[in-house]
Amino acid sequence: MGQKGTEPLLFRHNSLSDAAAVRAFTAPSTDSFESVPPSVAHNALVEIADGVFTWLQPGGESGVSNAGAIIDDDGITVVDTLMVRAQWEPFALAVHALGLPVRRLILTHAHIDHVGGTRAFPNAAVYGSQQTSDLLDYEDMPIDAYKNFMSTFADGFDELAEIGCRKVTHLITGVAQLTQRIEVLPGSGHTNGDVMVMVDDADVLFAGDLCFFGVTPLAFQGDPTTWAATLEVISDFASIIVPGHGPIGDERHCFELAQYLRHCAAGIVPSGPWDSWIERERDAINIERAALLRDGRDEMPPSMLKALGFG
Ligand SMILES: [Zn+2]
Repeated sequence: MGQKGTEPLLFRHNSLSDAAAVRAFTAPSTDSFESVPPSVAHNALVEIADGVFTWLQPGGESGVSNAGAIIDDDGITVVDTLMVRAQWEPFALAVHALGLPVRRLILTHAHIDHVGGTRAFPNAAVYGSQQTSDLLDYEDMPIDAYKNFMSTFADGFDELAEIGCRKVTHLITGVAQLTQRIEVLPGSGHTNGDVMVMVDDADVLFAGDLCFFGVTPLAFQGDPTTWAATLEVISDFASIIVPGHGPIGDERHCFELAQYLRHCAAGIVPSGPWDSWIERERDAINIERAALLRDGRDEMPPSMLKALGFG
């Protein structure tokens, strides 16, 4: 990791297997799920562990994601920034009300519901994967597609198109100790440039969209098979797992999600714990995506193109 494009990289452990090797010696016991907070308030900055805060949005459907904040000696690290002003403004106000400088912003991936509020933290260094960096550098915002896919937020997208997103300033290229408390872990599955945030001393993992709990995952740019394998590795990294969408969960939720994704890869989803999840229309997208990848075609599934207004 280093100043983008200039400094040498300090860490070059580039795969999750490296992360697994590291964690194998330090992963806390997950014998019970009792340590998972049973119910954490929505749309509020909630301290779930010493100096570790979540901002969970209810529902967790498209465009309704989670964020977090972690306090170190030198100030705050923010994890993801939500999407439109109605979401990110109250989150940013609550973070700033902690009264400490926001030093760092970690983007778990480049999807708009995680990076839309980056402007609310103008002085923070922005950390992300190469893929996140490339997307934020070079891609025009497909506002019409966003409006088709997430019509509830149409007005917010007009403003977002005007203010834009901040760029990544620091690349995450491997497992790295970012601060005394925070370790960043690259992975893939939901996209090809996912990043997770581990706070070991608090036994908390911010998994970004590698975890959807109570919400059907969306793999339109992912790989269900890789994603399931990633989940099976990370499931015991911490007893408290903050997903990108939905309520806080644990190892069991990771395994259920992995199981669902493996069914998508096999082409049919039988009855299971996912019967209670929202957004099950995503089954079709996930199954199509897995089939395309099996044919060597790294393409957007037709059902997703349709949902974006291109079909
Ligand atoms: Zn996402």
